[in-house]
Amino acid sequence: MKSNKSLIKIKKELRGREPIVRKIANVLLIFHFFSFLSCRTGEPKAPTFDGDKAYQYLIRQCDFGPRVPGSQAHQRCLNFLTSELKKFDATVTSQPFRQKLPGFENPVTMTNIIASFGLEKAERILLCAHWDSRPWADQDPDSENRDKPIIGANDGASGVAVLLEVARHLQSAEPKYGVDIILFDGEDSGLPGQADSYALGAQHFAKNKDFRYRPAFGILLDMIGDGDLQIYQEENSINYAPKIVKRIRDRAEELGSASFHASSGYQVTDDHLPLLNVGIPCVNLIDFDYEYWHTLADTPDKCSPESLAEVGRVILSLLYE
Ligand SMILES: [Zn+2]
Repeated sequence: MKSNKSLIKIKKELRGREPIVRKIANVLLIFHFFSFLSCRTGEPKAPTFDGDKAYQYLIRQCDFGPRVPGSQAHQRCLNFLTSELKKFDATVTSQPFRQKLPGFENPVTMTNIIASFGLEKAERILLCAHWDSRPWADQDPDSENRDKPIIGANDGASGVAVLLEVARHLQSAEPKYGVDIILFDGEDSGLPGQADSYALGAQHFAKNKDFRYRPAFGILLDMIGDGDLQIYQEENSINYAPKIVKRIRDRAEELGSASFHASSGYQVTDDHLPLLNVGIPCVNLIDFDYEYWHTLADTPDKCSPESLAEVGRVILSLLYE
Protein backbone atom coordinates (compact mmCIF):
# COMPACT_ATOMS: atom_id res chain seq x y z
CA MET A 1 0.00 0.00 0.00
CA LYS A 2 1.44 3.32 -1.02
CA SER A 3 1.12 6.31 1.33
CA ASN A 4 -1.14 9.32 0.70
CA LYS A 5 1.72 11.81 1.05
CA SER A 6 2.46 12.24 -2.62
CA LEU A 7 -1.17 13.02 -3.43
CA ILE A 8 -1.41 15.59 -0.60
CA LYS A 9 1.73 17.25 -1.96
CA ILE A 10 0.28 17.40 -5.48
CA LYS A 11 -2.91 18.91 -4.04
CA LYS A 12 -0.93 21.66 -2.29
CA GLU A 13 0.93 22.49 -5.48
CA LEU A 14 -2.32 22.73 -7.38
CA ARG A 15 -3.76 25.33 -5.01
CA GLY A 16 -4.64 28.42 -7.02
CA ARG A 17 -4.70 26.54 -10.31
CA GLU A 18 -7.68 25.86 -12.54
CA PRO A 19 -10.77 24.65 -10.55
CA ILE A 20 -11.17 21.55 -12.78
CA VAL A 21 -7.61 20.43 -11.98
CA ARG A 22 -8.26 20.93 -8.25
CA LYS A 23 -11.47 18.87 -8.53
CA ILE A 24 -9.59 15.96 -10.12
CA ALA A 25 -7.00 16.09 -7.36
CA ASN A 26 -9.77 16.05 -4.72
CA VAL A 27 -11.48 13.05 -6.29
CA LEU A 28 -8.16 11.20 -6.48
CA LEU A 29 -7.40 11.96 -2.84
CA ILE A 30 -10.84 10.76 -1.66
CA PHE A 31 -10.56 7.60 -3.77
CA HIS A 32 -7.09 6.93 -2.40
CA PHE A 33 -8.28 7.47 1.18
CA PHE A 34 -11.15 4.99 0.88
CA SER A 35 -9.03 2.32 -0.78
CA PHE A 36 -6.51 2.81 2.06
CA LEU A 37 -9.32 2.34 4.62
CA SER A 38 -10.66 -0.80 2.96
CA CYS A 39 -7.16 -2.31 2.94
CA ARG A 40 -6.80 -1.65 6.62
CA THR A 41 -10.17 -3.05 7.70
CA GLY A 42 -10.65 -5.82 5.11
CA GLU A 43 -10.61 -9.42 6.38
CA PRO A 44 -9.07 -12.04 4.09
CA LYS A 45 -11.78 -12.80 1.57
CA ALA A 46 -12.34 -16.36 0.35
CA PRO A 47 -11.11 -16.82 -3.22
CA THR A 48 -13.47 -18.38 -5.77
CA PHE A 49 -13.26 -22.17 -5.96
CA ASP A 50 -13.06 -23.45 -9.53
CA GLY A 51 -15.10 -26.67 -9.90
CA ASP A 52 -13.79 -27.28 -13.41
CA LYS A 53 -10.17 -27.15 -12.25
CA ALA A 54 -10.99 -29.55 -9.41
CA TYR A 55 -12.70 -31.89 -11.88
CA GLN A 56 -9.55 -31.86 -14.04
CA TYR A 57 -7.58 -32.96 -10.97
CA LEU A 58 -10.07 -35.81 -10.53
CA ILE A 59 -9.62 -36.93 -14.16
CA ARG A 60 -5.86 -36.64 -13.88
CA GLN A 61 -5.76 -39.08 -10.96
CA CYS A 62 -8.12 -41.53 -12.68
CA ASP A 63 -5.96 -41.42 -15.83
CA PHE A 64 -3.22 -43.19 -13.87
CA GLY A 65 -5.59 -46.15 -13.46
CA PRO A 66 -6.46 -47.78 -10.10
CA ARG A 67 -4.07 -46.35 -7.47
CA VAL A 68 -3.67 -49.64 -5.61
CA PRO A 69 -0.71 -49.69 -3.17
CA GLY A 70 2.29 -51.40 -4.73
CA SER A 71 1.18 -50.70 -8.34
CA GLN A 72 2.93 -48.51 -10.91
CA ALA A 73 -0.15 -46.28 -11.13
CA HIS A 74 0.10 -45.74 -7.38
CA GLN A 75 3.75 -44.70 -7.66
CA ARG A 76 3.04 -42.37 -10.60
CA CYS A 77 0.15 -40.74 -8.79
CA LEU A 78 2.32 -40.26 -5.69
CA ASN A 79 4.87 -38.40 -7.84
CA PHE A 80 2.13 -36.30 -9.44
CA LEU A 81 0.48 -35.29 -6.15
CA THR A 82 3.81 -34.45 -4.54
CA SER A 83 4.95 -32.29 -7.43
CA GLU A 84 1.58 -30.48 -7.72
CA LEU A 85 1.60 -29.58 -4.03
CA LYS A 86 5.20 -28.36 -4.29
CA LYS A 87 4.14 -26.11 -7.19
CA PHE A 88 1.76 -24.40 -4.78
CA ASP A 89 4.66 -23.53 -2.46
CA ALA A 90 3.56 -25.95 0.23
CA THR A 91 6.13 -27.49 2.55
CA VAL A 92 5.65 -31.09 1.44
CA THR A 93 6.80 -34.07 3.46
CA SER A 94 6.09 -37.71 2.85
CA GLN A 95 5.45 -40.31 5.50
CA PRO A 96 6.14 -43.78 4.08
CA PHE A 97 5.28 -47.01 5.89
CA ARG A 98 5.30 -50.68 4.98
CA GLN A 99 2.51 -53.07 5.72
CA LYS A 100 0.97 -56.26 4.40
CA LEU A 101 -2.52 -55.81 3.00
CA PRO A 102 -5.22 -58.49 3.17
CA GLY A 103 -4.83 -60.83 0.20
CA PHE A 104 -1.34 -59.48 -0.70
CA GLU A 105 1.62 -61.84 -0.55
CA ASN A 106 4.22 -59.28 0.54
CA PRO A 107 4.17 -56.02 2.47
CA VAL A 108 3.83 -52.91 0.27
CA THR A 109 5.07 -49.37 0.80
CA MET A 110 2.35 -46.78 1.34
CA THR A 111 2.91 -43.05 1.72
CA ASN A 112 1.00 -40.26 3.43
CA ILE A 113 1.62 -36.90 1.75
CA ILE A 114 1.63 -33.89 4.08
CA ALA A 115 1.50 -30.38 2.58
CA SER A 116 1.71 -27.51 5.05
CA PHE A 117 0.94 -23.85 4.43
CA GLY A 118 1.77 -20.99 6.80
CA LEU A 119 3.98 -23.04 9.10
CA GLU A 120 4.56 -19.99 11.33
CA LYS A 121 0.86 -19.88 12.26
CA ALA A 122 -0.01 -21.56 15.55
CA GLU A 123 -3.72 -21.94 14.82
CA ARG A 124 -4.01 -24.70 12.24
CA ILE A 125 -6.68 -26.53 10.28
CA LEU A 126 -6.22 -30.07 9.00
CA LEU A 127 -7.80 -31.05 5.68
CA CYS A 128 -7.56 -34.64 4.49
CA ALA A 129 -8.66 -37.23 1.94
CA HIS A 130 -7.40 -40.64 0.81
CA TRP A 131 -5.49 -40.94 -2.44
CA ASP A 132 -5.37 -44.75 -2.81
CA SER A 133 -8.10 -46.70 -4.54
CA ARG A 134 -9.62 -50.05 -3.61
CA PRO A 135 -7.92 -53.22 -4.92
CA TRP A 136 -11.24 -55.05 -5.35
CA ALA A 137 -14.62 -54.07 -6.82
CA ASP A 138 -16.25 -56.30 -4.23
CA GLN A 139 -19.66 -54.59 -4.54
CA ASP A 140 -19.80 -54.90 -8.32
CA PRO A 141 -23.10 -56.38 -9.58
CA ASP A 142 -21.07 -58.65 -11.89
CA SER A 143 -19.31 -61.30 -9.78
CA GLU A 144 -16.57 -61.62 -12.47
CA ASN A 145 -15.45 -58.07 -11.68
CA ARG A 146 -15.16 -58.43 -7.92
CA ASP A 147 -11.43 -59.23 -7.91
CA LYS A 148 -10.57 -56.27 -10.14
CA PRO A 149 -9.27 -52.92 -8.79
CA ILE A 150 -11.44 -49.80 -9.03
CA ILE A 151 -10.70 -46.41 -10.57
CA GLY A 152 -12.24 -44.68 -7.53
CA ALA A 153 -13.29 -41.43 -9.19
CA ASN A 154 -15.61 -40.60 -6.32
CA ASP A 155 -14.12 -42.94 -3.70
CA GLY A 156 -10.73 -41.35 -3.36
CA ALA A 157 -10.04 -39.00 -6.26
CA SER A 158 -12.90 -36.55 -5.52
CA GLY A 159 -11.64 -35.52 -2.07
CA VAL A 160 -8.05 -35.18 -3.29
CA ALA A 161 -9.25 -33.12 -6.29
CA VAL A 162 -10.97 -30.61 -4.02
CA LEU A 163 -7.91 -30.36 -1.78
CA LEU A 164 -5.58 -29.73 -4.74
CA GLU A 165 -7.81 -26.86 -5.88
CA VAL A 166 -7.86 -25.53 -2.29
CA ALA A 167 -4.05 -25.75 -2.24
CA ARG A 168 -3.84 -23.72 -5.44
CA HIS A 169 -5.64 -20.87 -3.66
CA LEU A 170 -3.59 -21.17 -0.49
CA GLN A 171 -0.56 -20.25 -2.55
CA SER A 172 -2.09 -17.07 -3.96
CA ALA A 173 -4.19 -15.73 -1.05
CA GLU A 174 -2.99 -16.10 2.51
CA PRO A 175 -5.70 -17.48 4.79
CA LYS A 176 -6.21 -16.60 8.43
CA TYR A 177 -5.07 -20.05 9.61
CA GLY A 178 -2.16 -22.34 8.97
CA VAL A 179 -3.36 -25.28 6.87
CA ASP A 180 -2.11 -28.86 6.73
CA ILE A 181 -3.39 -30.95 3.84
CA ILE A 182 -2.84 -34.66 4.40
CA LEU A 183 -3.44 -37.16 1.63
CA PHE A 184 -3.69 -40.53 3.35
CA ASP A 185 -2.66 -43.78 1.71
CA GLY A 186 -4.05 -47.24 2.44
CA GLU A 187 -7.58 -46.20 3.34
CA ASP A 188 -9.44 -48.60 1.11
CA SER A 189 -7.73 -52.00 1.30
CA GLY A 190 -9.76 -53.18 4.26
CA LEU A 191 -11.95 -56.22 4.68
CA PRO A 192 -15.64 -55.87 5.55
CA GLY A 193 -16.20 -56.37 9.27
CA GLN A 194 -12.56 -55.60 10.14
CA ALA A 195 -12.51 -51.91 10.94
CA ASP A 196 -8.77 -51.89 11.72
CA SER A 197 -7.90 -53.07 8.21
CA TYR A 198 -9.14 -49.72 6.82
CA ALA A 199 -7.60 -46.25 7.19
CA LEU A 200 -4.03 -47.59 7.48
CA GLY A 201 -2.44 -44.25 6.52
CA ALA A 202 -4.51 -42.32 9.04
CA GLN A 203 -3.70 -44.93 11.70
CA HIS A 204 0.00 -44.59 10.93
CA PHE A 205 -0.19 -40.79 11.05
CA ALA A 206 -2.11 -40.79 14.36
CA LYS A 207 0.40 -43.20 15.98
CA ASN A 208 3.45 -41.28 14.81
CA LYS A 209 2.35 -37.68 14.88
CA ASP A 210 4.25 -35.09 16.87
CA PHE A 211 2.44 -34.87 20.22
CA ARG A 212 2.50 -31.06 19.94
CA TYR A 213 0.45 -31.14 16.75
CA ARG A 214 -2.97 -29.88 17.81
CA PRO A 215 -4.96 -28.48 14.89
CA ALA A 216 -8.09 -26.55 15.90
CA PHE A 217 -10.07 -29.06 13.85
CA GLY A 218 -9.92 -31.36 10.86
CA ILE A 219 -12.17 -32.02 7.89
CA LEU A 220 -12.03 -35.28 5.95
CA LEU A 221 -13.42 -35.33 2.40
CA ASP A 222 -14.47 -38.69 0.98
CA MET A 223 -16.93 -39.45 -1.83
CA ILE A 224 -17.98 -35.84 -2.32
CA GLY A 225 -18.01 -35.84 -6.15
CA ASP A 226 -21.34 -37.59 -6.80
CA GLY A 227 -23.33 -35.71 -9.46
CA ASP A 228 -26.34 -35.92 -7.10
CA LEU A 229 -24.53 -34.78 -3.97
CA GLN A 230 -26.31 -35.21 -0.61
CA ILE A 231 -24.12 -34.80 2.45
CA TYR A 232 -25.85 -35.89 5.64
CA GLN A 233 -24.03 -35.42 8.93
CA GLU A 234 -21.86 -38.44 9.70
CA GLU A 235 -22.60 -39.95 13.11
CA ASN A 236 -19.06 -40.37 14.50
CA SER A 237 -18.46 -36.74 13.58
CA ILE A 238 -21.65 -35.66 15.39
CA ASN A 239 -20.65 -37.65 18.50
CA TYR A 240 -17.01 -36.58 18.74
CA ALA A 241 -16.79 -33.23 16.93
CA PRO A 242 -20.27 -31.70 17.28
CA LYS A 243 -19.08 -28.06 17.32
CA ILE A 244 -17.24 -28.47 14.03
CA VAL A 245 -20.21 -30.27 12.47
CA LYS A 246 -22.34 -27.24 13.41
CA ARG A 247 -19.75 -24.76 12.17
CA ILE A 248 -19.63 -26.45 8.77
CA ARG A 249 -23.41 -26.74 8.63
CA ASP A 250 -23.90 -23.04 9.50
CA ARG A 251 -21.38 -21.97 6.87
CA ALA A 252 -22.99 -24.21 4.21
CA GLU A 253 -26.35 -22.65 5.04
CA GLU A 254 -24.95 -19.11 4.77
CA LEU A 255 -23.56 -20.00 1.36
CA GLY A 256 -26.86 -21.57 0.27
CA SER A 257 -25.24 -24.99 -0.32
CA ALA A 258 -28.29 -27.21 -0.76
CA SER A 259 -26.26 -30.47 -0.70
CA PHE A 260 -25.45 -30.09 3.00
CA HIS A 261 -28.20 -31.43 5.25
CA ALA A 262 -28.91 -30.75 8.90
CA SER A 263 -29.92 -34.34 9.67
CA SER A 264 -27.68 -37.32 10.35
CA GLY A 265 -26.97 -40.03 7.81
CA TYR A 266 -24.55 -42.90 8.10
CA GLN A 267 -21.95 -43.94 10.63
CA VAL A 268 -18.79 -44.49 8.62
CA THR A 269 -15.42 -46.11 9.32
CA ASP A 270 -13.01 -43.75 7.64
CA ASP A 271 -9.77 -41.80 8.09
CA HIS A 272 -11.32 -39.49 10.68
CA LEU A 273 -11.58 -42.25 13.33
CA PRO A 274 -7.83 -42.60 14.07
CA LEU A 275 -7.69 -38.78 14.32
CA LEU A 276 -10.66 -38.62 16.69
CA ASN A 277 -8.98 -41.32 18.79
CA VAL A 278 -5.96 -39.06 19.39
CA GLY A 279 -8.11 -36.05 20.22
CA ILE A 280 -8.22 -34.24 16.87
CA PRO A 281 -11.84 -33.17 16.30
CA CYS A 282 -12.26 -34.27 12.69
CA VAL A 283 -15.49 -34.24 10.70
CA ASN A 284 -16.11 -36.59 7.80
CA LEU A 285 -17.92 -34.97 4.88
CA ILE A 286 -19.21 -37.92 2.86
CA ASP A 287 -22.12 -38.82 0.62
CA PHE A 288 -22.35 -42.51 1.28
CA ASP A 289 -25.48 -42.95 -0.80
CA TYR A 290 -23.64 -43.79 -4.02
CA GLU A 291 -24.78 -46.76 -6.09
CA TYR A 292 -21.34 -47.23 -7.73
CA TRP A 293 -19.50 -47.59 -4.40
CA HIS A 294 -16.73 -50.23 -4.68
CA THR A 295 -17.72 -51.15 -8.23
CA LEU A 296 -15.93 -50.76 -11.57
CA ALA A 297 -18.51 -48.08 -12.43
CA ASP A 298 -17.07 -45.56 -9.94
CA THR A 299 -15.77 -43.50 -12.88
CA PRO A 300 -15.46 -39.72 -13.56
CA ASP A 301 -18.76 -39.52 -15.47
CA LYS A 302 -20.60 -40.16 -12.18
CA CYS A 303 -19.00 -37.08 -10.65
CA SER A 304 -19.56 -33.40 -11.39
CA PRO A 305 -17.57 -30.15 -11.18
CA GLU A 306 -20.59 -28.54 -9.46
CA SER A 307 -20.51 -31.04 -6.58
CA LEU A 308 -16.76 -30.56 -6.09
CA ALA A 309 -17.30 -26.79 -6.15
CA GLU A 310 -20.09 -26.92 -3.59
CA VAL A 311 -17.79 -28.62 -1.08
CA GLY A 312 -14.75 -26.55 -2.08
CA ARG A 313 -16.61 -23.27 -1.54
CA VAL A 314 -17.53 -24.25 2.03
CA ILE A 315 -13.95 -25.29 2.80
CA LEU A 316 -12.43 -22.09 1.39
CA SER A 317 -14.98 -19.98 3.23
CA LEU A 318 -14.01 -21.63 6.54
CA LEU A 319 -10.30 -21.01 5.88
CA TYR A 320 -10.75 -17.34 5.01
CA GLU A 321 -13.52 -16.42 7.50
ZN1 LIG B 1 -13.98 -46.95 -0.39
